[in-house]
Amino acid sequence: MNAWIIAVGSEFLTPFKVDTNSLAITERLNAIGCHVRFKSVVGDDVQDLETQFRRAVGTVDVLICTGGLGPTEDDVTRDALSHALDLPLEEQPAIVEAIRQRFERRGLPMAAINRRQAMVPKGAVVLENPRGTAPGLWLARDGTSIAILPGPPREMIPMLEHVVATYLAPRSDGAGLFRRVLKITGRSESDVDSVCGPIYTPWSHAAIPIATTILAAMGQIELHLTATALSSAAAMAALDDAVGQLERALGASVYSTDGRPLERVIGDLLRERAMTISVAESCSGGLLASRLTDVPGSSAYFDRGVVCYSNAAKIELLHVPPGMIDEYGAVSEPVAHAMAVGVRAGADSSIGVGITGIAGPDGGTTDKPVGTVAIAVVTAVAARVQTFQFLGAREMVKFQSTQAAMNMLRLLLREPPPVRLH
Ligand code: ATP
Repeated sequence: MNAWIIAVGSEFLTPFKVDTNSLAITERLNAIGCHVRFKSVVGDDVQDLETQFRRAVGTVDVLICTGGLGPTEDDVTRDALSHALDLPLEEQPAIVEAIRQRFERRGLPMAAINRRQAMVPKGAVVLENPRGTAPGLWLARDGTSIAILPGPPREMIPMLEHVVATYLAPRSDGAGLFRRVLKITGRSESDVDSVCGPIYTPWSHAAIPIATTILAAMGQIELHLTATALSSAAAMAALDDAVGQLERALGASVYSTDGRPLERVIGDLLRERAMTISVAESCSGGLLASRLTDVPGSSAYFDRGVVCYSNAAKIELLHVPPGMIDEYGAVSEPVAHAMAVGVRAGADSSIGVGITGIAGPDGGTTDKPVGTVAIAVVTAVAARVQTFQFLGAREMVKFQSTQAAMNMLRLLLREPPPVRLH
């Protein structure tokens, strides 16, 4: 089965609002093996929407349209559908009565315009909306099953689930789509592709086919694996095997195979080892502390974060020797190390992290261009210090600094023998 999703609403054609319904719909359709072939976002314009309906009907097996079912003039979905399929709209007294009762329960009279919501294209099945006034519609034409659902996600989702369970799942061949995501850091997209390409290319023709997509985001690469299989057990076994092969090829640069973000992986490693952490940040301005504390329960291991932007703050709060700053510069490995040692000692925590760099756009030199960042991770028995050269605008340098610091920490924590506490 394949599908076309239409999101109706002029607000989704502005920079202020994103159509999220189609993502929820895609997830539900994929679970029953239905691929989404097209998505359209259409403004509240009856002709534009009619055009989209005409394109979709007869092209795909399933058409799901959300929004534009309200009572006002700019809610055009019913009219557009009636024009596209050449079906007259008929008022259904039972719907008028249901809407009237809904208003009555809230102590309000039903406005006359709400009668518009009771207009149904001839022959369509009415789908009950337990959470709102706009009922949905279900009908078929030219081999396309059509579901028209209201826009608000809390109304749309239970109705979608009803449509999928009642009408679509029984018609699917039983094959579902199952996903796993590998998150990788410390490698470029081309590097990941050259290592993994030869491994995953044959999977598309395997008994349980697996499609692989590479997504590059700031400071990390994701490999999305999608298996098509008749049973979830078979899909999971194939995906486990695939993930294992990729992990072996990519080694320690894979930080998560179960969807966990890096800050969560770090949190789990610290918790397992009963270790605590403190961070000293210059160019990242507290972003590392913020990301580490995004994880619920991080108070179990996160002690403190010090933002020491000026040289004076580094000297005063972290006891970085002034002579060291004069000799090596504030952005240098010795200073990053001294910051990590200073914050760790002040907090008496198991780990200290120091980040110092040039986020830009000004402040770069030939020796130390914008994007130069020195990072140190220290424990009682180990120290790692590294200088990175990040590309991109200020916020990208800040984010990548925190990503690199967490990755250094992760690699240090993974090392056998386990790092001693104090
Ligand atoms: P109702 O009459 O119950 O409001 P409706 O079908 O007319 O339903 P719309 O008026 O189009 O729905 O949208 C109502 C609200 O629902 C929007 O302001 C938006 O917040 C949300 N919404 C609609 N479509 C989407 C979408 N595709 N993705 C995310 N949110 C949506």
